[in-house]
Amino acid sequence: MPKETFVIVGASLAGAKAAETLRAEGFEGRVVLIGAEPERPYERPPLSKDYLRGETDQKPFVHEESYYSDSGIELRTSTEVTRIEPAASRVHLADGETLEFDRLLLSTGSEPRRLPVPGSDLDAVHYLRTVEDSEAIRRRIDEGGKLVTIGAGWIGAEVAASARQRGCDVTIVEMTELPLERVLGRELGAIYRDVHVDHGVEFIGGATVEAVEGDGKASAVRLAGDSRIAADFVVIGAGIKPRVGLAEEAGLELADGIACDDHLRTSAPNIYAAGDVADAYHPHYARRIRVEHWANALNQGPAAARNMLGREESYARIPYFFSDQYEIGMEYSGFATQRDQIVFRGDPASREFIAFWLEDDRVVAGMNVNVWDVTAPIQALIRDRVPVDPRVLSDQDTPLEQIIGV
Ligand SMILES: Cc1cc2nc3c(=O)[nH]c(=O)nc-3n(C[C@H](O)[C@H](O)[C@H](O)COP(=O)(O)OP(=O)(O)OC[C@H]3O[C@@H](n4cnc5c(N)ncnc54)[C@H](O)[C@@H]3O)c2cc1C
Repeated sequence: MPKETFVIVGASLAGAKAAETLRAEGFEGRVVLIGAEPERPYERPPLSKDYLRGETDQKPFVHEESYYSDSGIELRTSTEVTRIEPAASRVHLADGETLEFDRLLLSTGSEPRRLPVPGSDLDAVHYLRTVEDSEAIRRRIDEGGKLVTIGAGWIGAEVAASARQRGCDVTIVEMTELPLERVLGRELGAIYRDVHVDHGVEFIGGATVEAVEGDGKASAVRLAGDSRIAADFVVIGAGIKPRVGLAEEAGLELADGIACDDHLRTSAPNIYAAGDVADAYHPHYARRIRVEHWANALNQGPAAARNMLGREESYARIPYFFSDQYEIGMEYSGFATQRDQIVFRGDPASREFIAFWLEDDRVVAGMNVNVWDVTAPIQALIRDRVPVDPRVLSDQDTPLEQIIGV
């Protein structure tokens, strides 16, 4: 019997982990892992952290170089898939080659949202997604001078912190009043603002960027109201959008990304999706969610691979992510849609605390800041929907394990 061919489009964390899993699970057919970037798969979190600061020159590759050939995985870098034909089970590559597949995984990830203002294409204006982007920003940081980050989401805030740590002057310009306000709400946004300000960053909230100005090269960011902030370089962190072009053209069902069921199957037979691009039904939340974080790519790629092998595995992990800024490390578990009821365990002013978001007396999300080894009980509280008394939750003398009843 001819061997099956499994094709993976998108050679980053989700795709590489899926390929690894196919082999680990004993799949003996052909595995073709196709990526548009010139590098073999790598992880992105260091690109705004130690790699950006030049603390390491080691690219954060997912596997050793020899891994792919040793494992019989056909890795095609610098190769773009231009079209997929679900009915014919075929993908088209940019050079005209076609490949037929028995199963296809789309792990095409996401890309930065472009800021639609004049001057955003000037020299010294950067976005950050790839290792090349990180190296280009690193070179600017090495030159020193003044950075303006537009946007104080995770990427903008981390780049600001890294540049500041390397001695640049930094101004953060953000549309909302506070950094990270959309994800964390006002109380925690204020904490992050204070952390940046304490490190000498200027934070301008509630700002509308009208243009990046400069003669060929960026020299200022102009805000509504005609104020100008001088800049030697600018980094735009205006959020990301899932790369759904191939799926859309192929007629797959889209939602916030590529719509999938809890087995990460798309609307087309034999086509799966994982990582940043997948808007997958989540049994715990009884709705589809798209998670644009490292741990999701790490775990969804393998889950999709097992399902491609017919394992019928429902993907129900509690969403998780982390961020490092200066001396502040945090981990966030869960998925809060309302941010009104927050319970703190520990004093936020000490910058060592856990914040819990509650809905109907149940924890829906938790964020530990400079407190470690608590992800398991936080996730258990969320997963088991344990009813909690906010006073008990905030009492540091009551172990979290006692609250979850183990
Ligand atoms: C600077 C930075 C810092 C981050 N820090 C954190 C962090 O601290 N914590 C955290 O939890 N998460 C973090 N993330 C998010 C995390 O890196 C992503 O969630 C993760 O990379 C998603 O992996 P993925 O494999 O789904 O997609 P991606 O990493 O986006 O990879 C998709 C790949 O598919 C390729 N591709 C797309 N279309 C095609 C095509 N048609 N043909 C061929 N190839 C194609 C792309 O070139 C890309 O290489 C960070 C992201 C960035 C950019």
